[in-house]
Amino acid sequence: MYFNNNTILYLNGKFVKAANANTDLYSQSLHYGYGAFEGIRSYQTEYGTRIFKAEDHYERLKKSCELVGIPFNYNTQKLVDDTYKLLKENNLADAYVRPLVFCDPNMSLTKPNNVSLMICAWEWGAYLGEKLLRLTVSSYSRPHPKSIHIEAKVCGHYINSILATNEAKDKKFDEALLLDCDGFLAEGPGANLFFEKDGKLFTPQLGNILPGITRATVLELAEKLGLEVKQGQFDTTDLFQADSAFYCGTAAEVVGIQSVDDYTFPKCWNDTLGKKLQEAYSQLVRATKLQFA
Ligand code: PMP
Repeated sequence: MYFNNNTILYLNGKFVKAANANTDLYSQSLHYGYGAFEGIRSYQTEYGTRIFKAEDHYERLKKSCELVGIPFNYNTQKLVDDTYKLLKENNLADAYVRPLVFCDPNMSLTKPNNVSLMICAWEWGAYLGEKLLRLTVSSYSRPHPKSIHIEAKVCGHYINSILATNEAKDKKFDEALLLDCDGFLAEGPGANLFFEKDGKLFTPQLGNILPGITRATVLELAEKLGLEVKQGQFDTTDLFQADSAFYCGTAAEVVGIQSVDDYTFPKCWNDTLGKKLQEAYSQLVRATKLQFA
């Protein structure tokens, strides 16, 4: 599904056939989830293949590793250049790029001496974003920021996301919405939350969420469009009085939310600020209209 006999991946500075690449079964990453990763997208644009905010993603990967003591000795620009090479090797334009830093064999609970970096990519076509999501508030809260580094995109943290997603799907919802450990709105298993009320936008402040690169982009776009955004601590009472809401993340871009449990957002999606931002985001990543560095 993710590769075939011709697929090339990047492993420790070399471009190798995915079918021939392998790893050690005694890695701390496999046993303890002690690794870090990124999710990046590239788009076919009128200027050729463009990786959206590649530098920001590799900088976050570096920060994730630093926060949890995983050695990271890679140069961001070189990683960006190598990712473009990888896309070219695989003849990909609209793609999802997955860099993963994983640790050497070590069965103890100590920092690794050495790590590997692999980058793979697969085709990810245009997503129309027309289907609105039905969410349920998860019984799982986001991990306590005193237990882990919530701003790090670390493999093991994703058990929390998987638990919440499984629970939501088992209950026949599309996706989960997680609260933080104090009961404030946090984020989705792999996306950040915004909601609209009386012409203003609201989004959970940083601290108990992953600082999404799409979230930052939406904030930039909102400013460009002259929209007011309040970052703060909000709860479900705020959400259940909102006019509309959306999730945003690299994979889903900007996607509208229809309902959260029994509450259906009253505003027609096409009339929302989310829809405006969805279009602006789509144009930005595909470099069709709005442009800024
Ligand atoms: N929150 C979580 C928990 C995520 O996994 C992601 C996806 N990386 C996001 C938010 C959105 O982040 P980004 O916009 O950087 O993809």
